[in-house]
Amino acid sequence: MTSNDTLNKIVSLTKRRGFIFQSSEIYGGLKSAYDYGPLGVELKRNIAAEWWKFMVHEREDVVGIDASIMMHPSVWKASGHLAGFSDPLVDCLNCKERFRADKAPQMEPGTAINWVKGGKSSGEKSAGTVGTCGYVCPHCGSSLLSDERQFNLMFKTSIGPVDPLDNFLSEVQGKELSRAELREKLEEAVRSSAIYLRPETAQAMFVQFMNVQQTMSMKVPFGIAQQGKSFRNEVTTEKFIFRTCEFEQMEMEYFCEPGTQKEWLKYWTETRMSWWQRYANNKSAFKLRQHDEDELAHYADDCYDIDYNYPWGWDELEGVASRTDYDLSKHAEESGVKISYFDQQKTDPATGKPGIRYVPYVIEPAAGLTRACLAYLCDAYAEEEGVDADGQTKTRVLLKLHPRLAPFKVAVLPLVKKDGLPDVARKIVSDFYKAGINASYDEQQSIGKRYARHDEVGTPYCLTIDHQTLEDNTVTIRDRDTTKQERVSIDGALEVVKERINAF
Ligand code: ATP
Repeated sequence: MTSNDTLNKIVSLTKRRGFIFQSSEIYGGLKSAYDYGPLGVELKRNIAAEWWKFMVHEREDVVGIDASIMMHPSVWKASGHLAGFSDPLVDCLNCKERFRADKAPQMEPGTAINWVKGGKSSGEKSAGTVGTCGYVCPHCGSSLLSDERQFNLMFKTSIGPVDPLDNFLSEVQGKELSRAELREKLEEAVRSSAIYLRPETAQAMFVQFMNVQQTMSMKVPFGIAQQGKSFRNEVTTEKFIFRTCEFEQMEMEYFCEPGTQKEWLKYWTETRMSWWQRYANNKSAFKLRQHDEDELAHYADDCYDIDYNYPWGWDELEGVASRTDYDLSKHAEESGVKISYFDQQKTDPATGKPGIRYVPYVIEPAAGLTRACLAYLCDAYAEEEGVDADGQTKTRVLLKLHPRLAPFKVAVLPLVKKDGLPDVARKIVSDFYKAGINASYDEQQSIGKRYARHDEVGTPYCLTIDHQTLEDNTVTIRDRDTTKQERVSIDGALEVVKERINAF
């Protein structure tokens, strides 16, 4: 199977089984926007809940927030996003594809240099200077490319009951202005009411640092965590839900004493890595990659990516960055508000008195939630050859999702729709609901088709209620991965499923 085949099969399964749909599909779809269907939303929420439990609930040193998506524009000035959150954009002069230079395929070694730099995007092929940029168009492989230019990824909109265009029109009405002056006035009108959709959740944790630290009496080292939507006007959206303009993140800012950042970076890279592997069948499909010196963001003194081996190869899943005191210092500078921490446990070496004040350093594990859905779907997708009841060879498609990530934990299936079996099944399923375990009651089609359907959506256990149930109060429990069945008592079924879900 090629990597494309695998990805196509996953895309097709997730649509067929109600995980992920193209956004606005009846209108032809919105490029690279996706809707999570009834099973997709369960998978996504389950991953988010596992992260929150692990990162917030099970720790004394991390608390959560849920900040607004729109923030004061000065936030993005201070953070550097307004000036520098951009990707290098290039046009292919051959096929007109627009793409990101830093993600483009590298030129094959030894390729003849017939490459022209600086051509106009109008398609003028001979203009410009000859040189090498080392990459080619990802679409047609051409090395005939425009110059790189920077494209800011933040989505801009306006806030307030005033349309910036109305402001602009009343400002310029009746005035004789040059093109440059008109442009400047237009930019000013847009800027005065401009607001941005956050491109990351992280900045709220920095600007609310003092509020959170003081109200919760947090002692450094401690972390602030957040999950939520982020928006980036990506130059190239690609590979299903891997890179989209609207996506969800799970981020945590861990504030520590300057000088301790190396040990905390090591701790968080290892901790995050083992978290990802805990839910995976193939643990070797996750690896740590340290950033090269020239790859580091200007505010970082070290950074690791946790990469996953997607059907197309290794690519980022989470970044764990050592961000120094850059963000807190920049926000203090821009806002004029003091942002620092008074550590009463330490002694000031200069005066010998108890307590020192410092600006904490930050370690940031930043993961993509929507990207996590893709990684775990890829990890779970399996095809197994088997022989059916008629002796025919059949391919069984299944999602080997970890039981705590699976949308349904259990399917409760009456063998037939009569003889009182549905009543018994409904009573069992309602016990699962009461216990807070997401169960599916399913009586449509033959039992074989129902098993196949639940294998495909990753339901780890099926309970079947048959005629023997009426005689001895037992049901069969079928394991998704082994297809083995055993009989358990009705009264014990809930406990058996609970134990198995929590055993991992
Ligand atoms: P990339 O290099 O892939 O553009 P990044 O290094 O800019 O990603 P970060 O800013 O570190 O990404 O964001 C943290 C995480 O958020 C990423 O590891 C990824 O899982 C997720 N993420 C970032 N951009 C997107 C996107 N456009 N679509 C889906 N997930 C994203």
